[in-house]
Amino acid sequence: LQLTLAIVKPDAVAHPLILQAVHKTIVDNRFLIVRSKDLLWSRQESQRFYQEHSGRFFYQRLVEFMASGPMRAYILAHQEAISFWRSLMGPTKVFRAQHTDPESIRGTFGLTDTRNTVHGSDSTASASREIAFFFPEFSEE
Ligand code: ATP
Ligand code: MG
Repeated sequence: LQLTLAIVKPDAVAHPLILQAVHKTIVDNRFLIVRSKDLLWSRQESQRFYQEHSGRFFYQRLVEFMASGPMRAYILAHQEAISFWRSLMGPTKVFRAQHTDPESIRGTFGLTDTRNTVHGSDSTASASREIAFFFPEFSEE
């Protein structure tokens, strides 16, 4: 099985029914939940996690949004977990998500291009990095 790192972002955690719906999507699609935790980022942690986007026009608002309230992180296991979870998330941009993939998590719950409900690792390298970022104790096991 492959591992991926999934985040339920602050816009979704703020609404218990949305958090519950995302959790149900994880369970219904037979992901194995290897670890999960609820946490609140400092601005510094948010900046560090999204370092790769530091030159982009949306970086400041992304960093502030991700530190604006609690989130939930999961290590998920599944066959092809990385691409499967990203297909369930739907496209990054909410307009595209609503029009091309309305059943996806972002198509259903996404608010804006920034407040788009969920995150998923985009490669095996980023999955390893992100799992270590959220769950250092897991990576050392
Ligand atoms: P994520 O990394 O959260 O899973 P993604 O891989 O689909 O999303 P990235 O290009 O990695 O998209 O962008 C990271 C995050 O930055 C997006 O999820 C979104 O919250 C924000 N973002 C990306 N593009 C834009 C944009 N054009 N306008 C506003 N925010 C954006
Ligand atoms: Mg990404």
